[in-house]
Amino acid sequence: MKYRSTAGKSPDVSLEEAVVKGLAPDRGLYMPERIGRMPDGFFDRLPGMALPEIAAEVAATLFGEDIDAESLDTIAKDTLNFPIPLVKVKEGRYSLELFHGPTLAFKDVGARFMARLLGYFNRGNNGRMVNVLVATSGDTGSAVANGFLGVDGVRVFVLYPKGKVSPIQESQFTTLGRNITALEIDGTFDDCQALVKQAFLDKELNGMMMLTSANSINVARFLPQMFYYFHAWGQAVAAGADPENIVVCVPSGNFGNITAGLIAKRMGLPIKRFIAANNANDIFYEYLKTGEYNPRHSVQTIANAMDVGDPSNFARVLDLYGHSHDAIAAEISGCTYTDGEIAATLSATLRETGYQLDPHGAVAYRALEEQLRPGETGIFLETAHPAKFKETVEGITGEEIAIPERLAAFMAGEKRSVPLPADYEAFRQCLKESL
Ligand SMILES: *Cc1c(COP(=O)(O)O)cnc(C)c1O
Repeated sequence: MKYRSTAGKSPDVSLEEAVVKGLAPDRGLYMPERIGRMPDGFFDRLPGMALPEIAAEVAATLFGEDIDAESLDTIAKDTLNFPIPLVKVKEGRYSLELFHGPTLAFKDVGARFMARLLGYFNRGNNGRMVNVLVATSGDTGSAVANGFLGVDGVRVFVLYPKGKVSPIQESQFTTLGRNITALEIDGTFDDCQALVKQAFLDKELNGMMMLTSANSINVARFLPQMFYYFHAWGQAVAAGADPENIVVCVPSGNFGNITAGLIAKRMGLPIKRFIAANNANDIFYEYLKTGEYNPRHSVQTIANAMDVGDPSNFARVLDLYGHSHDAIAAEISGCTYTDGEIAATLSATLRETGYQLDPHGAVAYRALEEQLRPGETGIFLETAHPAKFKETVEGITGEEIAIPERLAAFMAGEKRSVPLPADYEAFRQCLKESL
């Protein structure tokens, strides 16, 4: 199957090219040219299916023309070797716990799938080395580094701002070694991002080494996220929810996660409607209300993985609905909450139900509480484990959060990073020396 650019000004490409390129040359985002429907019988079976099986069948519909069945099955099952349970918080409200993977956040799903897909495309190319550059303010770097750890023919360079990521986050990409190199940049996250961008534009460097990005605009990172929407619906129906009355609420930043859900709906998944939950960065909420999209600088909040002022996947949402504001607003509603409201929801929910939210999940849970109608079952995506935001969450609730073993294991490892100034020549030299 071909992939086309949302900007419509560059040629269609193969899956492999879309994955390796990331962004289209016209700066659009790649979309599958067709969105196939799952057969009706699939939805009858779904409530009884295990996640790896669901992933394999959905992946076959999405990528079956490009990858042989056996390899695809292995890639899908290997990606989802951890559970994604739907946990009841109270009557009619469920949490889809996306934090049981290696770095305790939903980004593990996309990062693991992309890594395995690149590994597959590299299989015949003896000696080809793909270099993944990723700038991170914390979470993306850990998911990508862990997803790509040990994958043949791929090297990962994680650029992060010195002293500006939490010790827990830093340990998740500086202690791995092998094909993962952590570059500790004496600057800000924006400096890291600028260095990566400049490298992609550097023709001479690109002639010497194959560079690619692993951010959420990559089709291999965003499409696999739809696997767990199918699983969420299946689990809710198995628990007795009305199959036609299921509403899903997604805490949203760059809108990759929710876009995967919207595509799952196009593939036939009967989700009634979606809620895109925002923190104070409410550009999308404003768009729903006014029809106008006004990107601006992000503001810092306690749900910081959603601090995005110009969501990159907005182009995909527009594309999916033929740029119709009415069509978008008919399927997606929005909301925006202050840090005070997020904190109040987090502590009230713990007190009233015993369920420990993280700040991102709290945004989504509050939206369900406010927007669900009688007869509807609400599912919110719990995108990260609360221990990843230990200080913030403990500061709100006053209750200690135990650090899961997986996270503690990272912190016990030895930190190894390459210190660099925020200077392009130094970065370039470092990349060249790795050849
Ligand atoms: C990345 C992230 C989000 C936002 O997801 P998008 O796909 O960018 O909308 C929400 N919560 C957590 C914990 C994240 O890491």
